[in-house]
Amino acid sequence: MTGQSATVTCGACEYEESFDRLGDARAAVQAHRAETGHDPTWEIQSVAAGVETAGADAGVCGRPACTNEDSPLYRDDC
Ligand SMILES: [Zn+2]
Repeated sequence: MTGQSATVTCGACEYEESFDRLGDARAAVQAHRAETGHDPTWEIQSVAAGVETAGADAGVCGRPACTNEDSPLYRDDC
């Protein structure tokens, strides 16, 4: 059951990634911090409708990073 997602962003570089599990986002923050010494932040978002997430995964925002057909959320588009 996925009711939340999280986006990790870094103010020191261009890093930005979305996760559908908070644990994954947290791990990414720690990994980025360990790899680069940056201090990224993560923002938790409630996903009210599956269509919103499916749209993001389909890349409607136009950013290549959002085109993620391998995402587990992509399959929820039914
Ligand atoms: Zn960074």
